[in-house]
Amino acid sequence: MSAVRDTMAGAASEDGRPRANGVSLQRKLPLLMTAVLLVILAGGVLLAYREVRVSAELVAVHRVQEVADQIARLVETSGPRLGERLRPIAADSTVLRALTSPQPSTSDLNAVRQNLTYLETPADSALVSELWSADGRVLVTTGDSLSHRGRPTGAAVSTGRDSVSIGAFYSIDARVYYWSSLPVTMEGRRVGTLAQRRRLNAQPNTERDIARLAGQDVRILFHNADGSLWTTLGGKPVAPPWSPLTIGTLKTYQHPEVAPGSGRMLLQESRVAGTPWVAAIEIPVTSLGNAPRQMLRRFTIASLVLLLLGAIAVWFIVRRMISPLARMTAAAEGIAKGDYSQRVEPRGRDEIARLGASFNRMASEIEAAERELQASAQSAEQAQITAEAANAAKGNFLAAMSHELRTPLNAIAGYVDLLDMGLRGPLTAEQRTDLGRIKRSQEYLLGLIEEVLVFTQLDAHQLGFRMQDVSVDAVMRDAETMVEPQIRARGVDYSYLGCDPGLKVRADREKTQQIVLNLLTNGAKYTNPGGAVTVSCDSRNGSVHVRVTDTGAGIPEAMLTRIFEPFVQLDRRLNQPREGVGLGLTISRDLARAMGGDLLVESTVGVGSTFTLVLPRTDAPASS
Ligand code: ADP
Repeated sequence: MSAVRDTMAGAASEDGRPRANGVSLQRKLPLLMTAVLLVILAGGVLLAYREVRVSAELVAVHRVQEVADQIARLVETSGPRLGERLRPIAADSTVLRALTSPQPSTSDLNAVRQNLTYLETPADSALVSELWSADGRVLVTTGDSLSHRGRPTGAAVSTGRDSVSIGAFYSIDARVYYWSSLPVTMEGRRVGTLAQRRRLNAQPNTERDIARLAGQDVRILFHNADGSLWTTLGGKPVAPPWSPLTIGTLKTYQHPEVAPGSGRMLLQESRVAGTPWVAAIEIPVTSLGNAPRQMLRRFTIASLVLLLLGAIAVWFIVRRMISPLARMTAAAEGIAKGDYSQRVEPRGRDEIARLGASFNRMASEIEAAERELQASAQSAEQAQITAEAANAAKGNFLAAMSHELRTPLNAIAGYVDLLDMGLRGPLTAEQRTDLGRIKRSQEYLLGLIEEVLVFTQLDAHQLGFRMQDVSVDAVMRDAETMVEPQIRARGVDYSYLGCDPGLKVRADREKTQQIVLNLLTNGAKYTNPGGAVTVSCDSRNGSVHVRVTDTGAGIPEAMLTRIFEPFVQLDRRLNQPREGVGLGLTISRDLARAMGGDLLVESTVGVGSTFTLVLPRTDAPASS
């Protein structure tokens, strides 16, 4: 129920003014414009973030690949450097002797061992240096006591003629090793091999330095090209990365063993030339978003500041623009309520100020027009009162006069009858003719007075109606008996085309007859001898139309409405003094309208006129 009341309260109020509880334009506009600003700024920030993120990813992939390539190139140089250290020993005469003599002397072997001992370095405690004969036998070993696990055969290691070969990584006891070797040649012939086993063992800060140079949270890994072993830079074997997944344009893997808790990793690889190794750089995918996220934060803060400034500016502008409109609205509402003194104060010279000035001008004009209207309404009211009083006086006069005239007229009729009956003595033939004329004049005058009486009663709405179902045919036949002789006496032909006897109207029978008689009399009166008066009737749209047509002089178009006004006659001079006062049609139309019908006329000058009496048809059985 309260919801219904709320809904109704939300609609416009009864006097059409905007609801009082609705949000005004002054508040709505700043909110709306701030919202639009917010959407634009948010959209801009998100778009920028997206672009920055995509380019950050591209840059990161490129940089990580560069780091992988650089490390691969760095490692490539270790082969030649090793060669430089081994080559003087390979050319040493004791080494050549130990390799070429069928039975190397102990002193030669000791000298070789002494030479190899120079290669030892404190950085690699697991370093092993050996001299192998051409058929793969180990002639001298220095360094850590070496188990045979992971030792390659001489053929597998020494591939080049005079260059250092590097072998694949292998692991023993969670440590990663590799062999490097240099062939020992004499007179272009390979006589043996100098081999070294090294441990992959970068210093922890080496990795940190590389990561710092890369500028990212990178991890450096190596693996054999055939994927057989993955290791950290520090020489710790790790499982290969798994679960490959392409996110956008990034190829990612999981490698929590290397970077615990880092989620998915971006991996870029670079083959180390001259070795069976591949350098691999890993970077957590999440760290790629750091820069874009920072940018997003900065942009968001800047946007919020801009939004705040924009909202303040919008508020000021809207206030400046809407306040005059709000004042104008209040003034217009005042005017609508009838307070025409309402005005606004236009400030400045802009469009709103001009609108305010126009509003004031309009308000002044409305005020003047209203005053004028009130004055004319007052005088119209006064005039109506006067007219009504005059009309009432005229009605009273006409009623009184008609009434007063009837008494002497009746007396005249009485005395005429007295004389006619010979009660005052015998009458000559001339006297009897004169008496007939007096009698007809008396009847005519009485008729006129009756007409005036009816008119005044109609005018004062005092006439009573006895409404009933009336047969049109019956009315016409009664009227016919009354006027047909009179019409024929004027030398005018009369014909009644007949009405359906079942056709009935809802009307006062006497008054209907009075109208029909008036129309028939007029038809005869304004038609020259030799002319004709014809009556027909039909029914349409719930009404009955009784048409009285004559072939008389006709009525000019300009007079077609005027002939229904009281006391209007087309040409009074042409009429005989006994031809009426111009009330017949007035009374007839008023009677027809009072019974819910109408009286219409069509006429052509020189051809004739048709008067149509329209009355509401009834379908009920006739009571007449
Ligand atoms: P009255 O006939 O008493 O003068 P009416 O009110 O009946 O008054 O008619 C008003 C005038 O309309 C008549 O004076 C006459 O000029 C004109 N008029 C009425 N009926 C006809 C008709 N059938 N043909 C031509 N003119 C007519």
